[in-house]
Amino acid sequence: MIEFLAEEDISVTVSVDGPRDMQDRFRVFQDGSGSYDVMLPRVRELLQRHRSRPIGARVTLTSQVNDVRGIYQHLTEEIGFQEVGFAPVTTSPGRDHALDGSGFDQMVMQFKGLADEFLLAALAGQHHGFSNVSETLGEIHKGVSKAYPCGAGLGLIGVATGGDVALCHRFAGSDEHNLGSVTEGLDREAQQAFLERNHIAHKTDCHTCWARPLCSGGCYHEAHTRYGTTTHPNLHYCDWIREWTDICLQIYGEIAERSPRFLNRFDS
Ligand code: SF4
Repeated sequence: MIEFLAEEDISVTVSVDGPRDMQDRFRVFQDGSGSYDVMLPRVRELLQRHRSRPIGARVTLTSQVNDVRGIYQHLTEEIGFQEVGFAPVTTSPGRDHALDGSGFDQMVMQFKGLADEFLLAALAGQHHGFSNVSETLGEIHKGVSKAYPCGAGLGLIGVATGGDVALCHRFAGSDEHNLGSVTEGLDREAQQAFLERNHIAHKTDCHTCWARPLCSGGCYHEAHTRYGTTTHPNLHYCDWIREWTDICLQIYGEIAERSPRFLNRFDS
């Protein structure tokens, strides 16, 4: 598999939560045993042999797995990922592992700490792997104004083990969000209907929000889990989205003033 991915120049993102105690908290096998020791040698091999594209890690933050700095350090310095991105867990608010208001505040504080490091690295012309910042800077640089929050159903699809395709990896296997299959192809009518229903024009709550060009209502899966429909904006996390966008705007301004050449990487 590694050879195939490298030869075909395919980007890989690994869902992983970091040091053993964090990884083994939720990423467990059916018998409850942790996956860290199984995952580690395979990921190391992937990183060693697949050099044609940067390999990223994607971490799911919960009320228990929330040490952003420790996880970042472990994944970059000890395992060797070039990029690490973090996302809060998608779940209903009553669940034990859901992030509440103070959990989001703590997350933004930790993001801010790593973002400051990113800024220092950028000013020194160096790479920093905190991809939540680099992705947002790229969008600011390109002047993105999104009609949809992400590529789900546009250029991104999730494939279930049975071959059905759905909006994204989070919806893979969901009949309600099925968009065809790998053998039959995409159901263009269902895709079109989804895109029409979920256009930002219908999210009236977002119309006066300054963060709308980048957020566009937020993750469909989160909305589906919290509000029962992909069409609902994620109003429970507006504060942290706006705070985070503000931090990234400030970083962009600093870099644009003090080290503008760094931003050339976002031109392509
Ligand atoms: S931050 Fe809230 S109001 Fe603003 S675009 Fe996102 S979901 Fe809509």
